[in-house]
Amino acid sequence: MADCIFCKIAVKEIPADLIYEDENLVAFNDINPQAPVHFLVVPKKHIVNLLELGPADAGLLAQVHRVIVSLARKRGIADAGFRVVINTKENGGQTVPHLHFHVLGGRFMDWPPG
Ligand code: 5GP
Ligand code: ZN
Repeated sequence: MADCIFCKIAVKEIPADLIYEDENLVAFNDINPQAPVHFLVVPKKHIVNLLELGPADAGLLAQVHRVIVSLARKRGIADAGFRVVINTKENGGQTVPHLHFHVLGGRFMDWPPG
């Protein structure tokens, strides 16, 4: 997808602090971290947001789950706990229109978020 920053990161046109990659997913540290650990898990396929996911993406979602858990353990935030956030469209605070899963940890996360 032209001009999509996360598509460009997925094909290495734009550099990112990559922490994981496979055929379908990349994960990289957020450029503006909101917690001591803050990374994004991003499907390589250009899916705009959660509303665009369909039944054919069930396997992809299962893979996202496995990668989140694996990276949370690797980054040392699994024991104390962490938060997964999917901002969706304007009111959800989504600024990059390419589906991504925020994983935040390393501090207590207030609820509700501001
Ligand atoms: P959203 O607001 O769409 O849920 O989240 C987008 C996230 O992507 C933000 O937390 C923002 O800091 C991060 N971000 C935006 N551009 C870049 C970039 O070029 N590199 C990295 N690593 N993160 C980015
Ligand atoms: Zn994209």
